[in-house]
Amino acid sequence: MKVTGDLHLMKKLNKSIILETIIADSPISRTAISEKTGLNKATVSNLVNELIASQLVCETGPGESSGGRKPVMLLFNREAGYAVGVDLGVNYILTVLTDLQGRIIKERRVSLHENGFDYVLEQLHDSIRWALAKAPDSPYGVIGIGIGVPGLVRPDGMIMTAPNLRWNKIDLKSQIEETFQLPVTIDNEANAGALGEKSYGDYQTAKDMIYVSAGIGIGVGIILNNHLYRGFSGFSGEMGHMTINLDGRPCSCGNRGCWELYASENALLEEAAKVLGEEQTADEMTLDYLVHLAEKGRKEVIELFRSVGYYLGVGIANVINTFNPELVIIGNRLSLIKSWIEESLQACVEERSLQYHHKRVQIEFSKLAMKSAAVGAATLAIQAFFAQSKATVEEG
Ligand SMILES: [Zn+2]
Repeated sequence: MKVTGDLHLMKKLNKSIILETIIADSPISRTAISEKTGLNKATVSNLVNELIASQLVCETGPGESSGGRKPVMLLFNREAGYAVGVDLGVNYILTVLTDLQGRIIKERRVSLHENGFDYVLEQLHDSIRWALAKAPDSPYGVIGIGIGVPGLVRPDGMIMTAPNLRWNKIDLKSQIEETFQLPVTIDNEANAGALGEKSYGDYQTAKDMIYVSAGIGIGVGIILNNHLYRGFSGFSGEMGHMTINLDGRPCSCGNRGCWELYASENALLEEAAKVLGEEQTADEMTLDYLVHLAEKGRKEVIELFRSVGYYLGVGIANVINTFNPELVIIGNRLSLIKSWIEESLQACVEERSLQYHHKRVQIEFSKLAMKSAAVGAATLAIQAFFAQSKATVEEG
């Protein structure tokens, strides 16, 4: 950082530190901010006034005080702007409009009937247009768009490959930016899901958590020491393509016997098609339909769910032995069948992970369920918005 002595840049940096403190700890008094940040009271007071003028912060009534005059509390104005978060699945698009604190204001889900880029782009445009139209009036309007995709995404947003969509080298970011003239952030959907869980899920205090996105494929988002671990090239977490069967069937990634061939929604639907034979056409064979059959007590389907739970457990045991996490969260589509898969999954982890590891780890199903990745994608857009002022400081 080359800002020493540059008062203007120091001020910007201090302002962003104060804003971060208010976002994290609001409602908070000016005195408490001064104590937390080590900045003197006059500086805090001046910069808070600027934040109030910029409408990112507002004042509320008196807070708790240990006697004497009660301080006025400061709140982050989470409705100063809005973000669009998109979870681009293999067979659906889930779009959310959130406030600046990731609270969902509106959401919409559409099914995808094919994966051709032009068709998906058109559906994406429709979904984003819909979200933009729903944004209430606000000082900053929609501050950006975040998109989670099931594939390898370079740090600059280029989608290198998305095997289940059969996409290679797609510059989705530029196309969406051009259409909507808004900043666009793209990341892997499991990374987005991990971020969504870490920022807004029920287990935010876990420092080391692994988010397992079990949908059509499987991806893993890795939070280590409170930070998303992206790997050297940004491609970490492709554990869906970890080999669990040496002589297994071929996978779209080029390998054989990958984890997601046995433990994903796709695996479940394929097995169901074999077991249920001619009963259903491929289009009718959906997870919802299988849940319907399981609820009616259909034994073959219950057994399939149990088997998918077991295979999920195989990979999760490997995850646990590798990372020794505090928490493993299972999200995306298969979290919908928790009650059918939980027992066999836990039994498998018990059986296959090292006993010192599995004794302490907590395995949960996401409470955000299907929405982790979409909320996490909105978080990416929000982080990019707040990073702008900091970036100017750091490059100064
Ligand atoms: Zn594979």
